[in-house]
Amino acid sequence: MGQLSLKSVIKTFGEFEVVKGVSLDVHEGEFVVFVGPSGCGKSTLLRMIAGLEHTTDGDIVIDGKRVNDLPPVKRGIAMVFQSYALYPHMTVFENIAFPLRVEKAPADVIKKKVEAAAAILHLDTRLQQKPGQLSGGQRQRVAIGRAIVREPEIFLFDEPLSNLDAALRADMRIELTRLHKQLGATMIYVTHDQIEAMTMADRIVVLNGGHIAQVGAPLELYHKPQNTFVAGFIGNPR
Ligand code: ADP
Ligand code: MG
Repeated sequence: MGQLSLKSVIKTFGEFEVVKGVSLDVHEGEFVVFVGPSGCGKSTLLRMIAGLEHTTDGDIVIDGKRVNDLPPVKRGIAMVFQSYALYPHMTVFENIAFPLRVEKAPADVIKKKVEAAAAILHLDTRLQQKPGQLSGGQRQRVAIGRAIVREPEIFLFDEPLSNLDAALRADMRIELTRLHKQLGATMIYVTHDQIEAMTMADRIVVLNGGHIAQVGAPLELYHKPQNTFVAGFIGNPR
C-alpha cells in the first residue's frame, strides 16, 4: 500500500500552465524528494496529489485506483506544511488528537493513537503543554503527529523545515529519516535545500518550469546530471 502514480498530470491556472505533463511512479515505502526553483510547481503537484487542487488533465493513481475525483480524506494521504497552524489554546494532546476528533473516533482509541504518535516523536512529556511553551522544532513535531494519527499510506511534506534554524533542521532531518524507517510509509518531500535532498531521498525528482528535468538516486544526479540545470541544482560542479 502507498504506491502512487502520476500520469501526464497537467495543471493550468487560467492561461498559465504550471504543471506541464508530469509522469512518475513512486514505490511503496519510498522516500521521494521534489526539488526545483521557486514557482516550478512543487506545491501545486503536492496539492493535486492530496486532492486540495483539481488536475486539469492526467491521472493520479494510488494503489491501482484512480483518485482524481476522491476528496482529500478518502485518499489515505496526510500533508504537513511549512506553516503548521497549531491551535494555541489547545494542549499538544488535543492538537494531535484533532483529526481523530473530527472523525469521531472513540476516546480510548484517540488516547492510544495520540500516545503512540507522541512516543515516536519524543513528545511524551509535552502532551499537556500548549504550543506556546514549545520550541519551533517541537511544534513542527506536533504538526507531524497530527499527520501520523491518521495512519496514512502516503505522507506529503511541503518544505516542513524551512522555518527552523540550521541546527534544528539537521536534527529534524535525522528524525524524519528515522520516522520513515519506523512507519514504512511512502513519503514525498518538497524542499529547496540540497542537503535535505541528498541525505534523505531514495530518489530525487528535479523539477524545472512544470517539467521533470531528471529523476534518480541522489548520487546518480550528483555525478551524472543530464543537463546544466540539474548540475546547477544538485550536480557535482565541475
Ligand atoms: P513552488 O511550490 O514550486 O514554488 P507553486 O506550485 O506554488 O510553486 O506555483 C507554481 C506556479 O503556479 C507559480 O507561478 C504560482 O504563482 C502559480 N500558482 C500557484 N497557485 C496558484 C493559484 N491558485 N492561482 C494562480 N496561480 C497559481
Ligand atoms: Mg511551494
